[in-house]
Order: sequence, then structure tokens, then C-alpha cells
Amino acid sequence: MLAGLFFFKNSHLFYNIRSRCSTGWQMHALSRRAAMLIRLQTEITGLQEMKTLYAADEDFTSFWEQCIFGKSSSDYSLRHGFLFKANCLCIPKSSWCQFLIKESHCGSLAAHVGRDRTLTQLQARFYWPHLNRDVSQFVERCPVCQTYKGTSQNTGLCMPLPTPESIWEDLSLDFILGLPRTRTGADSIMVVVDRFSKMDHFFPCKKTFDAVHIAKHLFKEKVSLHGVPRSLTSDRDVKFISHFWRELWKRLHTELNLSSAYHPQTDGQIEVVNRTLGNMLRCFVQDHPKKWEEMLSQDEFAFNSMPNRSTGHCPFNIVYTKMPNHLVDVAVLPKCRSTAVAHAAKQFKNIVDRVHAQLTESNLKYKQQADSHRRFKKFYPGDLVMLRVRREHFPTGTYTKHNPR
Ligand SMILES: [Zn+2]
Repeated sequence: MLAGLFFFKNSHLFYNIRSRCSTGWQMHALSRRAAMLIRLQTEITGLQEMKTLYAADEDFTSFWEQCIFGKSSSDYSLRHGFLFKANCLCIPKSSWCQFLIKESHCGSLAAHVGRDRTLTQLQARFYWPHLNRDVSQFVERCPVCQTYKGTSQNTGLCMPLPTPESIWEDLSLDFILGLPRTRTGADSIMVVVDRFSKMDHFFPCKKTFDAVHIAKHLFKEKVSLHGVPRSLTSDRDVKFISHFWRELWKRLHTELNLSSAYHPQTDGQIEVVNRTLGNMLRCFVQDHPKKWEEMLSQDEFAFNSMPNRSTGHCPFNIVYTKMPNHLVDVAVLPKCRSTAVAHAAKQFKNIVDRVHAQLTESNLKYKQQADSHRRFKKFYPGDLVMLRVRREHFPTGTYTKHNPR
């Protein structure tokens, strides 16, 4: 259809195509190729009537009159009785507007392209004052797009967690799953991050661990060393929404933050840790992927010795006010009394203050950056919303890649 109108702008040909495959017998009589040609055509009738609408159209009447009475106005001109703005056909207020948008977005030659591309196609050919707004509304409400396309932009802004005040009080908990099974049967890593110092602890564990296993691990490896945390952030894994898990932390007065992929309550830290740890492990184990468990403590040391992007300090430095001895320190440097020890308390306070300020700033930056890919949308009780159902929510065997999203 658009091709048809394109012709029409440049020639005397007015199309009156009315051969949409409406009748069954026609379909049978035609070859598949012919059927396709017909499918690609569009019924355009009543084009001549459009001319009669200009005179009474609130947007175009003055330009129309100017052209009729030969007062050539800025951009407007008459061709074959139709009003043009530059090279675009002016569309008076009528069902034509919706028809043209529909044809460009979901017509026979269209493929439900997004708002911008639909708009570009129309703007090259037609003009009416609220073209932009009309296209946005149409595409936003297109039921096919809503059902079959994943939205590229997440709804709901990032909700940054409050900046922690001190060391080992506010923790994030996550798992790296799907690793090669080691001799001890471990196939996952539990990652515990102190949100203040960014110090990480990695524990080998099993994918099948339930909330009780994880709690035992946490108490043995974490609480025994650093005390009971004030808050614990994790994703919404079934383990973390179980009654046992909630009840346990409630009794310890630890606040649980459950973050969701669609409404992340996070500072992005744990994702960075997981990615970096994955890369480090690959480098360490190289051709022996099942040996990752043996390398984990080495990884942890390396991790906590590196300056962190958000704090600007090494986690070791924040927690212990000094870096632990490295192999090179022990082997190469002579043992000498450090003057820093005398000022440890003062130094510690300085570091903690600096880290806190740095964290506040970097959390703000993270939120700004994350929100640039997201949009704020307020929903009210009773609103209808489309939910994207992920693969794991489909009954077994019913999911295919081409399912509605
Ligand atoms: Zn669509």
C-alpha cells in the first residue's frame, strides 16, 4: 500500500486496489505465488474523498485556502487536488490516520517494527500534526507487540540499598551455579559479600543445598567470624523465600532484602563479583575445570587484595587497615616494625569515613547509570499489566523459543 501511495505522489495513477483475498474460491484458483501477491496488496478506496476533507479540517483549512486562492504559503502546495507539505501528503483528521499507521506497523508488508521505525516510515510520506503521538499510542497498545516481544526497557527504577555504615553488617548472598562437579561433590559457589568493605567469601557448595544447609554454612563460615549481620540481600530463589529462612533471620533481627531482576534492589556489586570470579577461575584452572574448588581460596585472596571500583580500596585494607602479607612480602622484604601500627586506630577511622563517602557516591552513580535503561511507571490496584513469563515458569515441555513472551 505504501508503495502504491508513493507512486501516487509522483504520477497520475490513483490506485483502487480491492483484491485482498476475501473470497475463498479465489484462493483455490490461484497459485501460491499469486496468493502472496494478493496478500501483499491492500484495499485503498475512498482516496478521492480525502480531498473534500481539507476544506473543513481544523489543521489544514487555512493552508488549503491559501493554496486554492493562489497565495503560495511556506511549505504547502496542491498536487492533483491533494494538499502536500513539502513532499508529504497531508492527512486530514479522519480514519485515514489510524489506517496508515496500522498499515505501516502491522500491514501486509510490515513486521511490527518499533515506534521509531514505524514513525520514520510514515514521516517520509505523510504529514499530520499529531503523527508522532498517534504512532506512539498505536505501537504501545499493539496487542501483538505486547504479547510476543520482550520489552527492551525494564519498567521500575533501580532501588539502591542504603549505604552500609560499617564492616560485615550488611551482606549480599548469591550463588554461582552449574560448575563442573568436583571430587567432594561441589558444583556451585556461595558468594557472600560485605557490602561495606566489598570483602568476599567464597564457599564451595552443592546446587541441591536447601535453606538449612545454607544457614549452617553461613553460621560456620561467616557469623562465627564476623557476627550476626544487620541485613542480608539475596535474589528471590525459593531457598530465600522459604518459611525457615525468613523465620530464622527474623529471630536474629536481621533484615532480609529480596531483590528481583525486574526491580533490582542492588548496587550491582554481586553481579560484578560473579563475572570477575568466573573469569579468575577459568584462568586458574585452565585445562582442569574440575579443580576449581582447590583454587577457590587463592581466588578469594586475590579478590580481596584488589582495589574495588566502588570504594577505591582493597577489601583487606578496609577490614584490617593493612594488606595481609603476600608471598613476596614474606620471602623478599625484611621483617620490620611498621610505624603504621601505632596509628592504626586513627587510620582505621579515616579509611572507614572515606569508604563511606566513596560508597555513597558510587551507589548514586550506579543508580543513574542503571536507571538510564529503565523507566518509572506507577501502577494502581486494578490496572491491567502484561507479565513476561520466563522459561522456567512454563510447564515442562510446553516452552519453545517462539512462544509469546
Ligand atoms: Zn505491533
